[in-house]
Amino acid sequence: MVYHPRSDEERILKVLAKPKTIAAIATAHGRGGIGIVRLSGHDLTPFALAILGKTPTPRLATHASFLDAQGNAIDEGVALFFPAPHSYTGEDVLELQGHGGVSITQLILQRCLELGAILAQPGEFTQRAFLNDKLDLAQAESVADLIDATTSQAAKSAMRSLHGEFSLVIHRLVDKLIRLRTLTEAMLDFSDEDIDELSIVQRKAGLEELLVELGQTTKLASQGSLLREGAHIVLIGQPNVGKSSLLNRISGEDVALVSDVPGTTRDVIRQTIQINGVPLHIIDTAGLREAHDKVEQMGIARTRGAVQKADAVLLVLDAVLIEANGGMGPDEQKIIDDLPPGIPCVRVFNKIDLTGQAEHAEEDSQGYSIYLSAQSGAGLDLLREKLLSLIGWHQEVGVFMARERHIQALTKAHEHLKNADQIMEQMELFAEELRLAQESLALITGEFTPDDLLGEIFSSFCIGK
Ligand code: GDP
Repeated sequence: MVYHPRSDEERILKVLAKPKTIAAIATAHGRGGIGIVRLSGHDLTPFALAILGKTPTPRLATHASFLDAQGNAIDEGVALFFPAPHSYTGEDVLELQGHGGVSITQLILQRCLELGAILAQPGEFTQRAFLNDKLDLAQAESVADLIDATTSQAAKSAMRSLHGEFSLVIHRLVDKLIRLRTLTEAMLDFSDEDIDELSIVQRKAGLEELLVELGQTTKLASQGSLLREGAHIVLIGQPNVGKSSLLNRISGEDVALVSDVPGTTRDVIRQTIQINGVPLHIIDTAGLREAHDKVEQMGIARTRGAVQKADAVLLVLDAVLIEANGGMGPDEQKIIDDLPPGIPCVRVFNKIDLTGQAEHAEEDSQGYSIYLSAQSGAGLDLLREKLLSLIGWHQEVGVFMARERHIQALTKAHEHLKNADQIMEQMELFAEELRLAQESLALITGEFTPDDLLGEIFSSFCIGK
């Protein structure tokens, strides 16, 4: 590496621009084996000297007492020092690992604040890592996603994103786009009539390749987004058909109140379950019958609200009644007719233990039906399988964690490339569409991300990360 001595002015500017030292408790609040207070700043030597009485050897565990202003030990434990730039944030980082009690970690934190550190904002350590080019925005987001992962599948995908698999794919797409833009910009000086056939063929091939890759990336990212956000499934049906029993059965927990009195489930009950690692937020609703009772009317209004936002609906029917009535009655038909157009709906014929029917699934012109028993559990696997396919989950290999905003950016980039495809011969417009596509992709990795979006992203992190 070539060393460039800085001018005094540069040095002063750099010092002035230095962000303050931040400190936070990095471990979860409460009792625990170890409690960690973490500091990050441009020079932590004075902090180390004051708290530990020495500067720990970089990257080696150093046993030490953590001292207060009078030199008395507040606690003792292990100190880890990571001098800049080889640290999580790219600044000096000091970790003080003491005993995991609520007061003791607070006292160590207080000591750091007393010495001039300020309390870190949520995600501020990771934000500094991003600003110091330690990781890009998609990687930074995957740090929070890893912490928030509710299933092991989601955690694995977040880890892939953190390792940069998602970013790498985006960088590859951007590189290809830049090559295509270079080819295009070189032609900008020619008039439209002079654009030769070869240029069009070359650019078309490049564009097609990009569109295919972008499509594959969006597919993988959508799977990742499903792992992160999960899907919303609403259970609807007449009172007493077994909606709450079904929810209990698939969640394996008694979350809903089950009773023989119609309308017991007056409110919306939400339970998150996981099937093959995909989180599903299942909402058990009040029945949709005409109700005169005010409380029940409110429940029904909530049901309608939940259905509007659902990714799929399970219409639960009582197989005994359906058999006795020779099919669905007007009430059930009305529920189906009232569903928002286009929402996937599966009819679940429950209580087959009473009808003697075998568990099975069938599809006809009306849609998909599953025959099961919430009580015995027969047919539950058929339901799980159908739920996954309904929400578009198909266990791709190498799914990386992605967020809704990433999908939007990918979709936008796709739109611009599609537009470009329509105007191959109008070089200036073509070039502009490519530029806009590149800008959309750069939003994912954070090259051109507006400050308010950065603030929003990092504020959802926990403190100390
Ligand atoms: P909801 O009002 O639709 O939520 O219905 P519940 O889940 O409260 O169930 C109403 C009644 O049907 C309860 O007595 C349940 O025990 C019973 N039930 C639910 N599912 C089954 C089933 O698969 N088989 C049988 N035999 N009874 C069921």
